[in-house]
Amino acid sequence: MNTENLFKTARSCGCEILMNEPLCGHTTFKIGGNCTAMIEVNSRESLRLLLDAARADRVRTFVLGKGSNVLFDDEGFEGVVLHISGEMSEIRLLGETTVYAQAGCSLMKLCRFALENSLTGLEFAYGIPGTVGGAVFMNAGAYGGEIKDVIKYCSVVNVRGEIEKLTVEQLGLSYRHSSIQENGAIVCDAVFELRKGDRAEIESKMNELMGKRKDKQPIEFPSAGSTFKRPTGFFAGKLIDDCGLRGFKVGGAQVSEKHCGFVINVDNATSADVKLLIRQVQKNVQEKTGQFLECEVRIIPFKEEED
Ligand SMILES: Cc1cc2nc3c(=O)[nH]c(=O)nc-3n(C[C@H](O)[C@H](O)[C@H](O)COP(=O)(O)OP(=O)(O)OC[C@H]3O[C@@H](n4cnc5c(N)ncnc54)[C@H](O)[C@@H]3O)c2cc1C
Repeated sequence: MNTENLFKTARSCGCEILMNEPLCGHTTFKIGGNCTAMIEVNSRESLRLLLDAARADRVRTFVLGKGSNVLFDDEGFEGVVLHISGEMSEIRLLGETTVYAQAGCSLMKLCRFALENSLTGLEFAYGIPGTVGGAVFMNAGAYGGEIKDVIKYCSVVNVRGEIEKLTVEQLGLSYRHSSIQENGAIVCDAVFELRKGDRAEIESKMNELMGKRKDKQPIEFPSAGSTFKRPTGFFAGKLIDDCGLRGFKVGGAQVSEKHCGFVINVDNATSADVKLLIRQVQKNVQEKTGQFLECEVRIIPFKEEED
């Protein structure tokens, strides 16, 4: 892998390069070996140039936000991680009820900005620990709301290296799915259309939902949130519980006792522990209930050949 030109581009854009960066420090699972390098992306134009350079030299890349929905390999990631986070987290009002946020802005910051401006619509997202880019990619949602309900459009770098504006229709958002999961576009920023609301009501709703999270979810342990997607007509956690798998462990990974839909890292779990646990839960649930639990967490292999 010839990263010379990519690193040269990063340096000329003023992006920091971290060599052999441990990925466990960049994921909420606290799991993952080192990547070849991580580049802290600092602007939309830098992102475009970096992706161009990587494509030209066939350097394998992975775009990472807050790492709250990924499971890296114990060996790490053979390639360059483009980290879109704090250095691309600008947020501002475009109109009375329209909010612009860069892809690296955290959903928490976005929600607090909405609250400060008495804008309603994003309460559901309060407590989701991802970035705007990761949330668009996943069509993140909770408590009856999802990104699809509030996003107007976003700009992406498409696979041809062009900056393109995608409307909500073009994003093809559905349950934990977006068209960019297939077309490889990278989100640079997004524009949300909210509504004027009552500040106290918005705050109380956010606090109520955060309270529910704390009550129901094992947020005291590292995890990537709900491990599985909800099969139509069922709840993953209930199916897992009904199969007697509450608290089921493989190495340091465990089906949470508090919420069976979460696989948690209780004791220095390896990526292999989590993957084996996931497979065993899937097999058991399929055999006993006939339901297949599709993994919501993105499992990222060490090498390209395994993709
Ligand atoms: C305790 C906990 C609770 C959670 N609760 C919820 C919940 O209620 N609802 C919910 O939907 N999710 C929830 N999640 C999962 C997670 O927070 C969301 O999926 C979130 O949207 C992921 O954002 P991220 O920035 O962390 O993405 P990452 O984990 O960094 O990446 C996830 C995927 O998005 C891609 N990606 C990231 N940034 C971009 C970008 N700029 N452009 C293109 N692709 C990109 C990555 O390549 C990767 O494939 C929870 C997770 C945890 C740990």
